Amino acid sequence: MLQFINVSKRYPGGADALKNVNFELEKGEMAFLTGHSGAGKSTLLKLIAILERSTQGQVMLDNQNIGRLSKRLVPYARRKIGMIFQDHRLLHDRTVFDNVALPLIIAGLDRHEIQRRVRAALDKVNLLGKEKRYPITLSGGEQQRIGIARAVVNRPPMILADEPTGNLDPALSEEIMQLFEQFNQVGVTVLVATHDIALIERMNYRTLVLSQGEIVSNHG
Ligand code: ADP
Ligand code: ADP
Repeated sequence: MLQFINVSKRYPGGADALKNVNFELEKGEMAFLTGHSGAGKSTLLKLIAILERSTQGQVMLDNQNIGRLSKRLVPYARRKIGMIFQDHRLLHDRTVFDNVALPLIIAGLDRHEIQRRVRAALDKVNLLGKEKRYPITLSGGEQQRIGIARAVVNRPPMILADEPTGNLDPALSEEIMQLFEQFNQVGVTVLVATHDIALIERMNYRTLVLSQGEIVSNHG
């Protein structure tokens, strides 16, 4: 489903954030991405979400070179990806419902379909009944689950998570990882960037290790 072929990324005025990265993710696979702070994890995820473009090489998503897509086509390619951030990036002046509905409103779905899908997504993350709450009134774990509901409400074939458990204690981290496993079990491809080695070791998935922009290990 996803292929990096000789991918390098250099930020303007910066050093190489990624150097000649090669790997593949199969459709329906779940994998971890790890490495020290500054190793290039966020950059790698941003290339998949087309939030940044590679300097060299090809990022292939479903056999399409997404690094070379015209601006007009980027929103369509992006719908294949649900992205989850450490800091949730929720809108705090909107309710839980409105936060989760956002991608569907942007996609232009009608009101009934939006109702139906938001409820389905909230059900999957065990937040049904909290539609009218504001994110700030919920716990840290619940806020992360709103972010996950928003990421999956479009039913994307792939989920990317950037340090999704960074602000959570071990028990809540476990809960979030179990949610990712549930999505993976119904066929969603999942890539989780984390520096939480203990979390990775408790779970049995392939792990890509980045060091100074290079993949130094790829197995599990
Ligand atoms: P990680 O997610 O593993 O902490 P990043 O992908 O955020 O790593 O960063 C990789 C390297 O790229 C770091 O050296 C970082 O300082 C640099 N970098 C990240 N974003 C930018 C940017 N927007 N402009 C310049 N340099 C950046
Ligand atoms: P955690 O132990 O995960 O941090 P909290 O103790 O913050 O959880 O929250 C426990 C429950 O209390 C949650 O279901 C949350 O919805 C509710 N809650 C927390 N803070 C508030 C608040 N300021 N107003 C209303 N409900 C709250």
